[in-house]
Amino acid sequence: MKNYLKIAGVAMLLVSCNSSDNELAALEQTKKDTVSVDSSQHLDDFNYVVERFEDLRILRYNVPGFEQLSLRDKTLLYYLYQAALCGRDISYDQNYKYNLVIRKTMEAIFSNQTHDDASDEFAKLTVYAKRMWFSNGIHHHYSHDKFIPACDQEFFKHVLGHVDEKNLPLQPGQNKQQFVEFVTPLIFDSTIAPKRVSLDSKKDLVKSSSVNFYEGVSEKEATDFYKAMNKSTGKEPMYGLNSKLVKENGKLFEKVWKVGGMYSSAIEKIVYWLEQASTVAENDKQKAALVALIKFYKTGDVVDFDNYNLAWVMDTASLIDVVNGFIEVYHDPLGFKGSFESVVSIKDLEATKRIATIGANAQWFEDNSTILPEHKKKKVTGISGKVINAVVESGDAAPTTPIGINLPNNEWVRETSSKSVNLGNIVNAYGHAASGTVVNEFYYNDQIKQNVSTNAGLADKLHTDMHEVIGHASGKIEEGVGTPHETLKNYASALEEGRADLVALYYLMDKKLVELGVMPSLDYGKAAYDEYITNGLIVQLARIKPGKDIEEAHMRNRKTVAEWVYEKGKKDNVIERKFENEKTYFVVNNYEKLRVLFGALLREIQRIESKGDYKAGKALIETYGVKIDQKLHTEVLDRYKKLNVAPYNGFIQPELVPAMQDGKITDVKIIYPTDFKRQMLDYGRNYAFLPSVN
Ligand SMILES: [Zn+2]
Repeated sequence: MKNYLKIAGVAMLLVSCNSSDNELAALEQTKKDTVSVDSSQHLDDFNYVVERFEDLRILRYNVPGFEQLSLRDKTLLYYLYQAALCGRDISYDQNYKYNLVIRKTMEAIFSNQTHDDASDEFAKLTVYAKRMWFSNGIHHHYSHDKFIPACDQEFFKHVLGHVDEKNLPLQPGQNKQQFVEFVTPLIFDSTIAPKRVSLDSKKDLVKSSSVNFYEGVSEKEATDFYKAMNKSTGKEPMYGLNSKLVKENGKLFEKVWKVGGMYSSAIEKIVYWLEQASTVAENDKQKAALVALIKFYKTGDVVDFDNYNLAWVMDTASLIDVVNGFIEVYHDPLGFKGSFESVVSIKDLEATKRIATIGANAQWFEDNSTILPEHKKKKVTGISGKVINAVVESGDAAPTTPIGINLPNNEWVRETSSKSVNLGNIVNAYGHAASGTVVNEFYYNDQIKQNVSTNAGLADKLHTDMHEVIGHASGKIEEGVGTPHETLKNYASALEEGRADLVALYYLMDKKLVELGVMPSLDYGKAAYDEYITNGLIVQLARIKPGKDIEEAHMRNRKTVAEWVYEKGKKDNVIERKFENEKTYFVVNNYEKLRVLFGALLREIQRIESKGDYKAGKALIETYGVKIDQKLHTEVLDRYKKLNVAPYNGFIQPELVPAMQDGKITDVKIIYPTDFKRQMLDYGRNYAFLPSVN
């Protein structure tokens, strides 16, 4: 499970002063679209904000302490870095069957100068290519809607005409003209593959989604196929996690992603680098985990994936860690298929102390929670929260990145142990790139604005810590009831995220945090409440296109929680809806009562999960989390647009460059590129291991 930044400019408001110049420069740039901010003039400063286009912004992060690492650790990181990037192609292909064709076409165009470079139309095509790189494909990374280039179709064909045929991903039997006719509608026709992931329960979810996880299969066939595998042993692997399910000649079968299977040519490279990494592992446990991961990639057996995770959660002492595999299932409308991702990281020892304190008191939090006694864990185990600094991210974790990770996902493995991390340097980069303008616009008065601006930074960190460390870890399922994914189906993710958020929210106003020394005063909790309510009811709506419903699980969760407590607290005026100067505000009048409401909703969502109460879960999300008040939505979009803030952020990755002597690595340097397009083209050249259609 993952935690994402709520919205640009809202989380992490502690803007350090030496970044404000860069920030202003970046805001200026937003008016000019895609011009890079020149970093060379600020040699002492790290430039967090690079460029902006459409609703996206490109940031950078740095890796504190990298230079001080031992050669062995740097070498290990380098090997894991290579393993991460070697899987990049898989993400594109998973997101849509023809994404690699389109990406390779764009790479062919942008790798060579053409006489059209200077035209406006070419600038529009450039923005399209950047959006595609940002989303690992042709669908918006967040809304899942297909986006179309703003340039003219004929212009695109004209540009293609100048590209050397040998650089284009022609399909078997195609000549160049046929290729142009084949690829153009894939890019320009909005009716072809309109949605990456459909969550519209009125349609066949599989057939209305463009992800490349199923072919020729209906929702019911896929669901039945995997239901038949389940033997209810209590230790079921995640069936279907690493395969494409296809139907050919009336027969259903899986194309497994493994060495010798689908995606073999990329997976072989991943395995090669993981094998290198295992030779320089920090300790036996880390080595055992890497060896188990290699085995999984070779056998493709989902049981081996559980075995790998069991080994991975045991490795808690290592400084360096890696997530590499088919991990999150958000992109499969049925929640079986794992998207490839990798996050390579170093432990942040200082910040880990804060999380460790919360983790050490997990039992106290469980005992004092508002959930029903029969749903409490007698013994909360396996919480190993820590803060890490990312070194490189790829696949589903890049360019957009989570700020918190909680793995593994398989419930029974989690019960033995799990790892929960915050990505410290990513959160820090967001903090530097944040803008106070959102607070100024959407919060009611100066006192609230002041408190949020000053205290939301730490409050957000604590929220994320508690969400991951004690939130997801809390509560238990009643005996004989299936996992939330089985019982609550397409509502499981939103409800589970809501549950974890509510644990955090409930304790953010508890003086226990002050006693533990992790929070100076309850003012931080108040800032967190103001922020959660304003974000859930107002600010996050800026991410939704006019007339659309909310579909993404985290957004549905935040809307559900905020809307529910607003409604239930109405009679006591706990949260007041105000309308002044044509602007709507939601103002918290009573933080203590709001806390009680959070506690009540936590108890209810835990009950829904513990009992697998699909009907209640569906009703909760559909009533509070999906539909948007159209009048308010229009107002919010209008107000947000005037701020000129990009709602989504993605990152340029650091690059690791080894120094070699006699075939041996003698040092590894880290560099921080400033050109997004350049990095995408470099990746395309150096890590293209898959055919254009798989
Ligand atoms: Zn979560």
